[in-house]
This record gives sequence, structure tokens and C-alpha cells, in this order.
Amino acid sequence: MLEQHVQGCIVVKRTNAGPNHIDGVLVIGGGYAGLHAADAVRRSHVPVTVVDRTGRHDFVTRLAAVAGGAAPEEDASRPLQAFIDNVVIDSVVTIGDGSITLSDGRTITADAVVVTAGSAPSRPPIDGIGHAHTLRSAEDAVELRESIASAPSVVIIGGGATGVQLAGAAAEAHPELTIHLVEAKPRLLEGMPEAFSSGARRILEGRGVHVHLGFDVERITTHGAVVDGSLLEGLVVWAGGFSALALEYGMPTSAGGRVLVDDALRVLNSNRTFAAGDIADHRNSAGDPLPMSAQVAVQAGTGAGRNAARAVRGEPVETVDLRQIGWVLDLSGRRGLAQVGTINLTAPGADLIPPLLHEAIDLKSLFEVGGVQALCYASASVRSLFTWPLALGHHAQLLLRERLVEQART
Ligand SMILES: Cc1cc2nc3c(=O)[nH]c(=O)nc-3n(C[C@H](O)[C@H](O)[C@H](O)COP(=O)(O)OP(=O)(O)OC[C@H]3O[C@@H](n4cnc5c(N)ncnc54)[C@H](O)[C@@H]3O)c2cc1C
Repeated sequence: MLEQHVQGCIVVKRTNAGPNHIDGVLVIGGGYAGLHAADAVRRSHVPVTVVDRTGRHDFVTRLAAVAGGAAPEEDASRPLQAFIDNVVIDSVVTIGDGSITLSDGRTITADAVVVTAGSAPSRPPIDGIGHAHTLRSAEDAVELRESIASAPSVVIIGGGATGVQLAGAAAEAHPELTIHLVEAKPRLLEGMPEAFSSGARRILEGRGVHVHLGFDVERITTHGAVVDGSLLEGLVVWAGGFSALALEYGMPTSAGGRVLVDDALRVLNSNRTFAAGDIADHRNSAGDPLPMSAQVAVQAGTGAGRNAARAVRGEPVETVDLRQIGWVLDLSGRRGLAQVGTINLTAPGADLIPPLLHEAIDLKSLFEVGGVQALCYASASVRSLFTWPLALGHHAQLLLRERLVEQART
């Protein structure tokens, strides 16, 4: 017998004999990869449901600005239902071939599954690492924002994209704050072009950030971090890297903990489960590993979603060609770093362009997954651009009306 059972925001079909079943594709995670996967499935006219532990879409590339205090809290995330009709708010604990287990032990099956559960801050064996704050979700960003606002000094460990963007935002929003940025490598933003390292250092030091290169953190305490034998006092933020937790879900993983997929983004040894974004071990066509980035997550999510829809319809899946084309980083305060083709926009003056590119990419992504109405979820700085013409238009209307009233009076 089939009964209807309301679970979260959707209706799940439940049979007395078997587990719950969802028709179409079940996407785990509503981040960049998940939203684009769901959109690709929807465009293929196959039903899609997203299960996410928070029920919100985090704008992860905006989190450093929010946490640092350079952007408002509302920029951090939006409810997933703004983009997707069928949303289940729950945590997935295990993932099988076409099936998942939720936190309460219930199993749900679907015609196909796309896993896009992202990554989590790494936890290296540094004494006292538990004292450090991290930045990976909207919740982290809001919590960190409050802590930074009341701290006299901050020690950010990790000079990658997260640490550099956070230092830039915090220094821009709180010019009086002492900020230390500690990086073990000899340069900031390793893995990005050399010009990014010097550009980031110039912008950050221009805002008074103390950049320490080539130093490992020895110990973290409640008062700060011990670097080169001395205590750098302040609120400690660990921004030293992220790991995918694919093994926790019972999936086949690479040495880096990312789920192994074939060139159609199907999880190894499975027929109906695909994976995309930070959680998956993505490679370019030459077989080189691709970084954890929003750009790769969007491409892979779209490809995995399309292939999952094909699998549901019984069609052959297709190879998904992935690549990282350039980088765009926003360091707040209308400064940033970008690589477009062979051109680096990192020099003084040119560094004004990357924040605009960042906003343009954000708008494109919003438009793709939510159409015109999703543009209202643009960041506050873009919305303020929209409101300028509106405000001017309104002002012109008022002037015109005043003029007409005056003319009618005379
Ligand atoms: C501070 C910061 C700044 C960054 N800046 C940039 C940048 O400027 N440019 C760039 O290209 N990249 C940037 N990145 C990297 C980029 O944000 C990630 O690569 C991207 O978010 C990966 O997308 P995803 O969909 O795989 O994961 P996410 O966007 O993190 O989405 C994962 C989703 O899965 C959900 N989820 C997780 N576990 C479960 C579970 N068990 N059950 C149900 N739901 C679950 C989460 O709630 C989340 O919604 C930045 C990262 C950080 C942390």
C-alpha cells in the first residue's frame, strides 16, 4: 500500500514494504554544485529534490567579506526554497548507489543521486587547534563576524584564498584592528599566479595587515598562536585548508578524501550515483587534479545533474570536460585580484576590476539557477548599484510631478 507522508517541505512516497522513494534525482547539498546540478536536472524535465542539512544556500565566496565585517550578514546565505521547490532539511549520514540514509536512520531511494556535500575545514594535529575559529559556512561567518568585531587583534593562519580574503575584509571594516596573517609557504596564494602573491601582499600591507611568510604555527592557545617561539596575541582563525569527508559517507575515496568519479562524474562502482564539487576528485582532460573552487563546482554540478537526468531517462551518460579558467578574488574595499586568460589584473589600478568581475560572476550564477527574480539575492554592493537608477528615477518622477503641479497652478 502507498501512503503519502509529508517530510520537510516535500511529499515523499512511502510504501509499507520498502523504504521511502523519491521519483527523479535526489541532490545532496544545496551549495554551488548542488544548485547547478538541480537546475540541470530541472531543465532536463526530470523531477528533482535537494536534501541539505541547513536548508540554505551559502554564498561561500562572499563569506570572508561577511565574516570580516565588510559586507552585511544577509549576503551570507538565502533559503534554498528561493531557488528549488522540493527541499528536504536533513543531514545525510551514508550514501549508497541510488540511496541515502538520513540522520534519523531512515533510508530514501531515488532514481539517481548527485552528491555535492562540499568540504570541511581541515584539522591538522596542531596543539590547541580546537581553540581556533574556522570559516566554511554562513553560520561560521556570522559567528566570526561578531567575534572579530569585539576582538582587539586577530591571528589568521593560512594565506590561501580564505585567509587573504578574510584579512582584507577585516582590515577594511576595522582599520583599528591588529591583524596577523601567518603562512607556512614563502608566498601568499600558492597555486595561483605569482602576481597574485605580490598583489595580495601589497593590498593587505597597505591596510596595515602584518604578513608573516614561511612560519609554521607551533601551538594555539586561548590567547593567540605561537609562531617562531613568540605568542601572537589575538582571536585565532584557522584558514589552513579544507578536506572532503567522502569516506564518512561510505564512498570510495582518493588519498585526499575526495570521492572517486569517472569522466561522466559517476561515483566509482556505482550506476546511479554521481558526485560534484569539493567532495569529488575532479581532474581536467589531462588528468591533473583541479582545485576546490566555485568555478569547478558550478561546471561539475551542471555536468553531474545532466548525466543523472540522462541516467533516469535510460540514456547514455556523457563525458564532462572540467577546467579551472583563471581566478577572481575579492579582497573587499573595491580591491581584488584576477587572472583573465593570460592577463593578470593585480597591479594598482587594475585591482579595481576584480571585485566587479566577482559580482558579474555572482549575478550570472544567480540568473542561471533562479532567473531574473533571483537577481534580488545579489550581494548588497550590487543591490546598491541597482537602487541608484531606481532612486534617480524616483527622484526625477517627483521633480516632474512637482513641475506639473506648479504649471497647473500658474
Ligand atoms: C571563505 C571561502 C572563500 C572562498 N572564495 C572562493 C573564491 O573567491 N573563488 C572560488 O572559486 N572559490 C572560493 N572558495 C571555494 C568555493 O567556495 C568552494 O569550492 C565551493 O563552495 C564548493 O562548492 P560545493 O557545492 O562543492 O560545496 P558548498 O558550496 O560548500 O555546498 C555544500 C552543501 O552541502 C550541504 N551539506 C554538507 N554536508 C551535508 C550532509 N551530510 N547532508 C546534507 N547536506 C550537507 C551544506 O549545507 C552545503 O549547502 C572559497 C571557500 C571559502 C571557504
